[in-house]
Amino acid sequence: MKSLPSPYILVGDEIFAHHEAKVSASDRGFLYGDGIYETLRIYQGIPFEMEEHLGRLRESADALYMFLPWSDEELAQKIRRTLEANDTQEGRLRITVTRGEGDVRARPEDLREPVIVIRAQPYEPPAEDFYHRGVSVEISERIRNLPDALDPAIKSGNLLNNLLARFEMRSRNTFETLLPNARGELTEGSLSNIFLVDVQGRLVTPSAESGILLGITRKWVMDLAIGRGLEVVEKGVKAAELYEAREAFITASTLEILPVTRVEDKPIGHGEAGPITLALLEAYRKGVSDYIQSFRWPEL
Ligand code: PMP
Repeated sequence: MKSLPSPYILVGDEIFAHHEAKVSASDRGFLYGDGIYETLRIYQGIPFEMEEHLGRLRESADALYMFLPWSDEELAQKIRRTLEANDTQEGRLRITVTRGEGDVRARPEDLREPVIVIRAQPYEPPAEDFYHRGVSVEISERIRNLPDALDPAIKSGNLLNNLLARFEMRSRNTFETLLPNARGELTEGSLSNIFLVDVQGRLVTPSAESGILLGITRKWVMDLAIGRGLEVVEKGVKAAELYEAREAFITASTLEILPVTRVEDKPIGHGEAGPITLALLEAYRKGVSDYIQSFRWPEL
């Protein structure tokens, strides 16, 4: 799984060569993590689930008292220009919006327009083999941000709590670490959402009120599962339920549905991707292919 540099980067309204793309050293995103972002997967030059990602970007902005001065059509136009400048076919795209320059004591209404940066990078997803053998996860000692503090539902540029959890992973072979909440229930991975298939064959995932980012892939997967007649349960999930699960997987835009076959060296189910996980992955990929076939760039 590799990300290569983006040759061209959009800053504001202009495309710059990588080394010319600059944001102020007084930018509050740089100084305080005062910003938001979205990461989208690009398939055949098309940003998958673009409307959903733009919707979540707006929700994150609202939650941080940040006003986005661009319509969805204008944002789509910026995304399109960035993808075309880089000729990105298979890749990932990141939209970063920061509050721009301003004093630490400033009120949100006194600050100038936010700064937008869009990067597109060629991206190699995990090798296909990972989608059969699965990956291993750990359970972190570090808890996820509490919803009453910096709510995990906000995709803020302040990723430090999750990055610390990643630094603290105990084994080099671990792909993802799962952060509990203050009640000891699982929330999500440092960069992904978690699902399990329980002994009754139900698809179980931590609820919004466990303190999670409401992943766009998570929503897509729940809808797919319901469409296939699976019972989907969102609830507080104890770590023990993961150990006892028949199957488990993590989801993220960049990863799709990635089977989890070990928790801290203990196999889950038969220690390889389970049938429900594989069926959902196949349906997900079909959904991606339908989406890119019918995608149209919005008119300005
Ligand atoms: N949780 C966290 C903390 C993440 O960083 C991500 C990746 N954006 C996800 C969940 C998955 O979200 P999505 O499916 O929208 O990519």
